[in-house]
Amino acid sequence: MKIKLSLAVCDGTDESDAQPLLTLELDSQPSIETLGLSLANGKVALTQLQARIVTRQVELMSARQRQCPACGLDRPLKDYHDVHYKSLFDRVAVRVPRWQRCACSVRAEIAGRRRWISAELEYVPSHLAATIPYARSSELLELLLPVADLAAAAWTEPSAAGTMVRLST
Ligand SMILES: [Zn+2]
Repeated sequence: MKIKLSLAVCDGTDESDAQPLLTLELDSQPSIETLGLSLANGKVALTQLQARIVTRQVELMSARQRQCPACGLDRPLKDYHDVHYKSLFDRVAVRVPRWQRCACSVRAEIAGRRRWISAELEYVPSHLAATIPYARSSELLELLLPVADLAAAAWTEPSAAGTMVRLST
């Protein structure tokens, strides 16, 4: 049995046509123990859904940031850079535009270095690690969620406040 999932995005007044998200192959004659989605199915669905949502949200964020806060005009494109947004629902590779400084402004706009990590990806492992060893909490999260390579999720990057975040055993 195939289950086809589609996704339509409604932001503001516009709603996109439903686009195919993924197809799941499920047993059409399951036993009681295998009814419904498996953990593996759930991880795949979450990963695909997260990728689509994050990509769309980054597009909206970028479009909003294009507008000069002083004069309201759209700034020209400078270039693109690739980032990997990390969350409890896996990593999402997104292409993010950088906008040139607006001609109306003589002050340099210094964009702070962003950490492309979800707040939940920082909170949940640290919350678990407060009660069980970090290695066990990582195993637990990787068992239940589509988060891969949790230890490499840039725990040592400086946080927005400039402090170091390190969650290790
Ligand atoms: Zn301007």
